[in-house]
Amino acid sequence: MATTISGSVKRPEPQALASAIEALAARFGNRLITSQAVRGQHAHTTTWLPTQPPDAVVMAQETQDIQDVVRICAKHSVPVIAFGTGTSLEGQVNAPAGGICIDLRDMNRILEVHAEDLDCVIQPGVTRKALNEYLRDQGLFFPIDPGADASLGGMASTRASGTNAVRYGTIRDNVLALKVVRGDGEIITTGTRAKKSAAGYDLTHLFSPSSCAAFPRRSPPLPVRSRPCAAPARPRFLPSRPAFRWRGSNCSTPSRSAPAIPIQS
Ligand SMILES: Cc1cc2nc3c(=O)[nH]c(=O)nc-3n(C[C@H](O)[C@H](O)[C@H](O)COP(=O)(O)OP(=O)(O)OC[C@H]3O[C@@H](n4cnc5c(N)ncnc54)[C@H](O)[C@@H]3O)c2cc1C
Repeated sequence: MATTISGSVKRPEPQALASAIEALAARFGNRLITSQAVRGQHAHTTTWLPTQPPDAVVMAQETQDIQDVVRICAKHSVPVIAFGTGTSLEGQVNAPAGGICIDLRDMNRILEVHAEDLDCVIQPGVTRKALNEYLRDQGLFFPIDPGADASLGGMASTRASGTNAVRYGTIRDNVLALKVVRGDGEIITTGTRAKKSAAGYDLTHLFSPSSCAAFPRRSPPLPVRSRPCAAPARPRFLPSRPAFRWRGSNCSTPSRSAPAIPIQS
């Protein structure tokens, strides 16, 4: 008999959960982890709520992994929780009804950087510091800076912001498009690298933020900025592209409505 947690939150039937974990074990082998310690590391809150760990953790490495986890869990009515770097503070990674946690940290590749267009395409597990380390030598940076070194997927999901918000906006202002794995395992793309579109609903900003809804996301392009010239005399900021550097100071407006997060296999 499914256990009612509160209101509509129900733990899955024990048999259904066992069948889901069996199917996941067959598909992922040792990338499916059920140890108490690892489950405990994938759930926490800084609130009065107790830590409620998931029933298992899957270490995702590519898009197909996310789709397969979601499909197996949908078949057995088992909840799914995405996990970026676990720095959220309001209990977002807690698992009140148990379920399967999809850890996205191994999906941490930076796929494309379009310096001329001031955007890039990354996987969801890329952290903000890793992205800036990667962009540094190109005279670029990504300005959204929550206090923790969070994943871009987690930042998109929690609508993160930081000390640069007044000048560069929040993560929501810096997402161009998303690829989202739906609850049936199908993929939708919410936009392109175009800075604006009048086509259809603005799904990108429906999914960012969405930490209330479990839609693991994939493959977003992200805007980047040219690093502000601390000392204009330091021409090393792309001397061959003066427009670029100057755009840096003026580009906050045009590329404010930028970029997009998540993954691309
Ligand atoms: C010291 C400290 C300082 C902080 N300062 C700030 C601050 O200044 N501003 C701010 O906004 N926040 C701040 N935070 C909170 C935290 O860093 C942000 O909430 C951050 O965006 C969480 O990212 P994460 O990768 O750790 O996500 P997680 O904690 O792993 O997940 C957060 C939520 O996003 C979902 N999620 C994660 N990845 C994906 C994905 N790829 N697809 C779909 N859903 C996903 C999870 O299911 C969960 O619901 C701070 C936290 C700490 C510890």
